[in-house]
Amino acid sequence: MQRGKHLVTGKSKTIFLTEDPDKLVLLFRNDSLGFEDERVESIPRKGRINNLFNAHIMKILEAAGIRTHFETILSDEETLVKRLDMIPVKFVVRNSAAGSICKRLGVKEGVELDPPVVELYLKNDALNDPMINGSHVRSFKWASDKETAVIRELVDKVNRVLTELFAGAGIRLVDYKLEFGRHENRIVVGDEITPERCRLWDAKTHERMDKDRLRRDSLGVVDTYEEVARRIGVSLD
Ligand code: C5P
Repeated sequence: MQRGKHLVTGKSKTIFLTEDPDKLVLLFRNDSLGFEDERVESIPRKGRINNLFNAHIMKILEAAGIRTHFETILSDEETLVKRLDMIPVKFVVRNSAAGSICKRLGVKEGVELDPPVVELYLKNDALNDPMINGSHVRSFKWASDKETAVIRELVDKVNRVLTELFAGAGIRLVDYKLEFGRHENRIVVGDEITPERCRLWDAKTHERMDKDRLRRDSLGVVDTYEEVARRIGVSLD
């Protein structure tokens, strides 16, 4: 399937329409857009590794009985997905404290969160994705109560599958972001699951194996993503 008209440019993906109104193409780019959309340098191989990584994770979720928008890889940097009616909420799942929760609540980085904390943010770039809660979702009707209940169950299930997958590879899944959408009256996992959207620490050394590393060492970041990919069994050849 060929990519058609441009639909939207995201932080590190561009989305295109296709001849099939029910399908979209995700292009994983080497560059990223930073705060206020300034372009962050292009990093060779980043788009490819994120594309292959995402496909691997989506297939594992599907195999565990979790519906996703993933259809097939089209090229090194492109994936075909189902077109979803997106729920405008980002679900951040935290198995350990890191990043913004430490600043906001004054908790120590690395503290284990059991049960995991699930935070909701409105998907709105202009407002910088403000934090919301379930009552906003209800009152503004961003999702029905039934959909919210399904999403809660899916978040738990996805988290079980992913924490186990990474733990088996000697990696601590500290936190990550999930998005969901509607497709044929079902809730499915959308967007991407890549090292750009997760915090991943080596279980023994606590070395950062995710985009936090980008801030310190942009060239090493893709090597690190590839190391994570290899450990969880992504085929990079
Ligand atoms: O910055 P913060 O600590 O709130 O991020 C928590 C997790 O959610 C991180 O893994 C980050 O990569 C992810 N996230 C994201 N997209 C956002 C906000 C957070 O992927 N817009």
